[in-house]
Amino acid sequence: MSAIKDLNQSIKVNKVENGVNIHYEVYSKKLDKVIKIGQCPRCEELFDAEFPALSRKDNKTKICSECGTSEALEDWMVFINKNNLIKSSKGA
Ligand SMILES: [Zn+2]
Repeated sequence: MSAIKDLNQSIKVNKVENGVNIHYEVYSKKLDKVIKIGQCPRCEELFDAEFPALSRKDNKTKICSECGTSEALEDWMVFINKNNLIKSSKGA
């Protein structure tokens, strides 16, 4: 979230836009635009609402990209386990 450093004003808002709970709107002089900050329903961290990830759990909840990555990894682990793709080190 390094983009937040050049922001000098923020307005607390509470609205849902594009499926994201927007908590703050901040104006960036450097980018000359308003950045919408949403809160991730999964980890409760704030993230740039312009680039949400879609939850793989229901295909509609917007979450932060870290959670998007972690859900993808969880799915991958389930797939690996189901298909026995990692050989057990416990011996046969
Ligand atoms: Zn998150």
